[in-house]
Amino acid sequence: MRDLPLGPDSDDRAVGVVARSRRALVFDDQAEIGALAVTRLIQLGFDAKSVTERSAFLAMAESWQPELIVLDLSLGDGDAIELFELLNEQAFSGHVILMSGHSVTVLDHARQLGEDLGMSIAGVLKKPFRQRDLRALVASLGGPSARPRLHRPDNPNPALLREALDKNWLEFWYQPKVDLKTGLIVGAESLARVRHPDQGILAPGAFLQQASEEELYEVTTRALDEAVRCTETMRQRGRPLTFSINVAAKTFKRTDLIEQIRAIRKRHSQIVPITLEVTETDLVDDKFAVKSFATRAILHDFRISIDDFGHGYASFERLRDMPFSELKLERSMVNGCARDPALRSICKAVLGLAHGFGAFAVAEGVENADDLETIRSLGFDMAQGYFFSRPLPFREFEQLQAAFATVTADEKGGFARG
Ligand code: C2E
Ligand code: CA
Ligand code: CA
Repeated sequence: MRDLPLGPDSDDRAVGVVARSRRALVFDDQAEIGALAVTRLIQLGFDAKSVTERSAFLAMAESWQPELIVLDLSLGDGDAIELFELLNEQAFSGHVILMSGHSVTVLDHARQLGEDLGMSIAGVLKKPFRQRDLRALVASLGGPSARPRLHRPDNPNPALLREALDKNWLEFWYQPKVDLKTGLIVGAESLARVRHPDQGILAPGAFLQQASEEELYEVTTRALDEAVRCTETMRQRGRPLTFSINVAAKTFKRTDLIEQIRAIRKRHSQIVPITLEVTETDLVDDKFAVKSFATRAILHDFRISIDDFGHGYASFERLRDMPFSELKLERSMVNGCARDPALRSICKAVLGLAHGFGAFAVAEGVENADDLETIRSLGFDMAQGYFFSRPLPFREFEQLQAAFATVTADEKGGFARG
């Protein structure tokens, strides 16, 4: 007998994060589990139904056109993965939440398979899940406007970025950074996307990998320009946040980079706080250029973050190459830390390092409540990951930030314990 999807701290309070009339379809071969998930979704404002048979599921998915599908991974003789392709054939454009009693690793692989097929997997729920886990995933769906799917093509196209820059297809989406003491969104990381007219929304793997120094420079300046504007917008709404942009180390050799980014920031009435994230593995190249860039950036009131810490070689040596105010632990060290004592030790050590350098410790890739609780209780300052939200277009990010404040206020006793 599998566990019922009810956690010990589940609560039945409804939160108005979603409008009624949004449709959610649950497919679990165990009727009582489906019924419980339906109850939970109704409490979150959905019009929800559940089915236990594959044929009924496919028929409902096509005729009823739900915005959200909640799928159990193991479905009697079948499984959720074979359904991804069938949903694709139906041109299903909503979001999917996967749930299972299997390990988080299995759930994660299933999620990845779905994403590779172009599905929008809103998140995974390890049974028994708590109402607040489901609520956080639902909040991350954003508004009812169906977001286009993100594509991660296998073969990067070296000419694509130039074309995207010239034709204005480049966009920046935002993923929240959550303060683990208050449970509030305190920042956002800007992540590049290409809105291709034929291929839809493309992830950076499709266009950044073979980019030239000149193209990356252009991406950085555009990202900064937009991040500064977003900061201003949020400040005017009384919700000050710190935006982060990614800066490829390849561009550090251009000595005018600092002047250029200062000039962009200066166009605004006051100096806004901006974090520049530098990927750790990029740092190996030219130590002088990196140190010079980071030191000058800090002198001009930017914050420097070492990104993907723990990925690649010589991590410790990198810490001496440049000043920094934030250390981001790579997601492969975070994902599963609640269950894996070895990962927990790494998290603890990196936290000690960050704080030892007087920097903030940020955990990336938080995908479930258990890992979140682990990194929070270890003492990390901030966290980012699909558990809170995927990267979103700015307008949806703003809605999420507002909804999140309500959800968190509602759950002070749970999330922001201690
Ligand atoms: P990154 O800077 O480490 O960004 C985090 C990546 O992890 C993003 O992938 C994000 O969507 C993904 N992510 C966030 N939370 C989770 C989670 O809980 N689970 C999993 N599995 N993934 C999560 P994305 O958007 O595909 O970006 C990939 C990389 O491309 C970025 O890694 C960054 O190195 C680079 N990149 C993105 N935008 C820019 C940009 O504007 N400029 C430059 N130079 N690089 C960029
Ligand atoms: Ca980053
Ligand atoms: Ca990262």
